[in-house]
Amino acid sequence: MLRTHTCGELNINHLGQSVTLCGWVQKSRDLGGTTFIDVRDRFGLTQLVLNVDTDADLREKARSLGREFVIKVSGKVLERTSKNPKIPTGDIEIGVEELEILNAAKIPPFLIEDETDGGEELRAKYRYLDLRRNPIRQNLMLRHRMGQEVRKYLDAKGFMEVETPVLIKSTPEGARDFVVPSRMNPGEFYALPQSPQTFKQLLMVSGFDRYFQIVKCFRDEDLRADRQPEFTQIDCELSFVEQEDILNIFEGLTRHLFSVVKDINLDTFPRMQYADAMRLYGSDKPDLRFGMQFVELNDVVKGKNFAIFDNAELVVGINAKGCAGYTRKQVDELTDWLKRPQIGATGLVYCRYNTDGTLKSSVDKFYNEDELTNWAAAFEAEAGDLMLVLAGPADKVRKQLNELRLEIGGRLGLRDKDKFAPLWVVDFPLLEWDEENGRYHAMHHPFTSPKPEDIALLDTEPGNVRANAYDLVINGTEIGGGSIRIHEKTLQSLMFKHLGFSAEEAQKQFGFLLDAFEYGAPPHGGIAFGFDRLCSIFAGLDSIRDVIAFPKNNSGRDVMIDSPSTIALEQMKELSIATTI
Ligand code: ASP
Repeated sequence: MLRTHTCGELNINHLGQSVTLCGWVQKSRDLGGTTFIDVRDRFGLTQLVLNVDTDADLREKARSLGREFVIKVSGKVLERTSKNPKIPTGDIEIGVEELEILNAAKIPPFLIEDETDGGEELRAKYRYLDLRRNPIRQNLMLRHRMGQEVRKYLDAKGFMEVETPVLIKSTPEGARDFVVPSRMNPGEFYALPQSPQTFKQLLMVSGFDRYFQIVKCFRDEDLRADRQPEFTQIDCELSFVEQEDILNIFEGLTRHLFSVVKDINLDTFPRMQYADAMRLYGSDKPDLRFGMQFVELNDVVKGKNFAIFDNAELVVGINAKGCAGYTRKQVDELTDWLKRPQIGATGLVYCRYNTDGTLKSSVDKFYNEDELTNWAAAFEAEAGDLMLVLAGPADKVRKQLNELRLEIGGRLGLRDKDKFAPLWVVDFPLLEWDEENGRYHAMHHPFTSPKPEDIALLDTEPGNVRANAYDLVINGTEIGGGSIRIHEKTLQSLMFKHLGFSAEEAQKQFGFLLDAFEYGAPPHGGIAFGFDRLCSIFAGLDSIRDVIAFPKNNSGRDVMIDSPSTIALEQMKELSIATTI
């Protein structure tokens, strides 16, 4: 080793020892005869003191140092006169006797400090410098810790880590595939896995019993703060289990992580049926850090000649507690916000429960104070509250009200990043109507089993068939999802048929799985957690980018290595491909 210690470990117990440290120059202060330098590495920061008056050579070298130079210093551990209680090495400094510059550095394009002056784009271009900053490095340390704990927990529960291939063929998770041309098979392409779904099921057929993998998955989707084209899953599959077993084991994993990584002991996770989540929160991933459940008002408001309510399939609202003080302007702004195309509401009705006990609504023409008292009763509103009401087609209006609920929750400070509200959402529908293509598609994926008691509905009311599928939600973010699988060829073939596959298409795309089911497939089920999302929730971040060492931007680009990029014509020829650009 070039050093005896790291920059984060020396303290008062090391006084008088001769040590050697290596690291980066964080900053240097020249105070006449004495120069102070802070040297930094992954482990911390140590103050160096150089008596440049007495040593000309040292003086020369110290003068030439700039920010981020890589240095090696030797000297004695001394007690500081003015101590810094904020850092573990704050009681000591190193009286430098020798200084060696291991490598010079250009002035970095932004400040490498906790608060930096660098914009996002610039920091992305120099990601290796951004990674030197404490907050980002700490996120990656957290991720490392979580990965280790996941392995520990699953290993102790008898899970075996198995790698599955990256060059495969299309997996049906509902996104577009990334494809890779095959040089040796001209005109043919591999697809990168959207998840190892079929492989993990095949491992169950192989008798592996409990599988897991911390694995990269690839989906060519439009990107958002919590999506990256390549992301990491904690992917798991188990044999001879029922839904209850899976929920228990993975609730256990989540609680273990919270306990060892964040020292938080969570209570048993509540469970909610999909149908209730949609009815009460307008979302299959409700944020339960706060209440504000939906209140349906059809019985209370219809039949009073207010056409908008009378004609609506659903009139539904929320009680914004303590918001009666909202001015007309604030409510108008909220209405405009709801009317933006991203949300698409047609209007917002409000009813203020003033602190003097009077009720005032935006539809006073149709509802007198007595009637508004009934509204207040339905909302369990009190003086000082503001009732916000939307009307329209049930599914749409619930989605819009979900947005409004989250917005108001945020404004009221109810979405505290240090509070954690986990939830299992269960009994998802098996199929989802696909407007665009005019057919049903699998809500989870085609290998999910219907609830046995609902199989009979497949022909008559496919939309009402429930699946043995579940999601883990934390603070309104979907952290994981899985299902009990189909393990019989007949049921799997029936499922493909309902999804619009001909027998030939099903055989061509998934014949390997259908065939495998004929060689003794055990009942099995599984789950996958979005590891990046889990880490970002633990770190209290909005974006998963900051828990990924080298993330891509919103257009799916890595601006540091400048990828994607064109390739040489020669390479294209070799791959037998041409572009139309
Ligand atoms: N493969 C599924 C997914 O990526 C998870 C699962 O069903 O285990 O969402």
